[in-house]
Amino acid sequence: MTAVHESVLDAIGGTPLFRLARLGAGIAAPVYAKAEFLNIGGSVKDRAALSMILAAERDGLLEPGGTIVEATSGNTGIGLAIVGRQRGYRVIAGVSDRSAPEKSDILRAYGAEVVLATTAVPREDPAHLFNVARRLAEEVPGAWLANQYDNLANPDAHVRTTGPEIWEQTGGRVTHFVAGVGTGGTVTGTGGYLKQASGGAVTVVGADPESSSYGGGDGSPWFVESIGHFLHPGTIEDRRPQAYRSEVVDSFERIPDRESLLTARRLAREEGILAGPSSGTAVAAALRVARRLGPDDLVVVLLPDSGRSYLSKVHSDTWMREWGFLEEPGETAVRAALEAADPLVAVPADATVGEAVEALRAAPGGVAPVALARAARPFGVSATELMGSVSREALTAALAEGAAKPDDPLGALVGPALPTVGVGQSVAEARAALAGRAAGGGHPAVLVLVDGRVAGVLSGEAFAD
Ligand code: PMP
Repeated sequence: MTAVHESVLDAIGGTPLFRLARLGAGIAAPVYAKAEFLNIGGSVKDRAALSMILAAERDGLLEPGGTIVEATSGNTGIGLAIVGRQRGYRVIAGVSDRSAPEKSDILRAYGAEVVLATTAVPREDPAHLFNVARRLAEEVPGAWLANQYDNLANPDAHVRTTGPEIWEQTGGRVTHFVAGVGTGGTVTGTGGYLKQASGGAVTVVGADPESSSYGGGDGSPWFVESIGHFLHPGTIEDRRPQAYRSEVVDSFERIPDRESLLTARRLAREEGILAGPSSGTAVAAALRVARRLGPDDLVVVLLPDSGRSYLSKVHSDTWMREWGFLEEPGETAVRAALEAADPLVAVPADATVGEAVEALRAAPGGVAPVALARAARPFGVSATELMGSVSREALTAALAEGAAKPDDPLGALVGPALPTVGVGQSVAEARAALAGRAAGGGHPAVLVLVDGRVAGVLSGEAFAD
């Protein structure tokens, strides 16, 4: 008998499990996916939103007619908008400018006000999304900051609902629980409950982007939104969310972006499950875990949200190719040129003019990208960290004219960013990028992206007929 609800709020939670029969083919341990995209707002965060609002009302933090403010990658805001509007509140969502645009559109559709802010600056910067949200909550009368990262009603939602559901749905046979870690609410609450219910027998595995610092990466950027812990090189005080309790996680599977994104695409094509990129990370991790287990084990992996929010990203072939995540069999010319090219030279944004000139000696074509990060980092330079370019010609001219001294910061000598091309794109697309859009424009070189990171610099000669 299908449920009849008096309110959409009653349709939060109670999600089904689906056996991943095709992705799990040949693996002895069954893998079941907890379909959180079937929540009314399309994500696991509906549970946390409902829990945080009810707790705030109970604690007198949110009064009738009040305003809910939150910093969100999108889904928590959507949950807060649905629950908040049903209960008569104004909802303001500060959304990361890195989040898929679909999520902001969905927020507006539910009646939330959206304020876009950056997460690509140090945590202490007033322009950082978290500080923007905090200021809004201080300035708007009657406002309450939900603060999902430190609000314990977030993990508590999963102790009360997600954990017991999985225990009951598997008849207590679950042996491994796999989930991504954003605020940590899901993994802490669900994993903590399952451990307690099983007398410590359930193993909890965190699914983390390879460079995220939760699982041991350096905190440099990755391309799966809403999970992982990012560390901006300029951040002074790195804080872990209070919603996350690291002792609940027994181990991490560190998943490269390409594996996450391709797994999300396989989920749609092979299992009929259109989910977001963090579901790809979680399933990739669950499959790794399951391969090491036997038929008496049972893996549950949590799929946080729907792929409908990412039709312009992971589920778009164009986007995947532009960032270097997809290579069709036939399109290998750019990769061949890349393999024949000199090693990448990237100049850190905090280099001096003298250091940049020195580095540019080895740069093909005398140009190099300027990146926030140090090129020597294990994961290289993310395309999202590019801040412009420098040319040997311009720097040596500035030094000769006395317009700059070797010890000066690069400052105004940083020129426009070089265009990019994905490694699987065609030579025609690379040439178009080099030619530039503006009439008479044209760039000295193009950056080739592999897995969203700068793999090399190619000048026009690389594509000469
Ligand atoms: N995936 C998606 C798509 C999310 O929106 C979130 C929440 N930010 C997570 C994973 C991580 O969940 P949690 O915050 O509970 O760790």
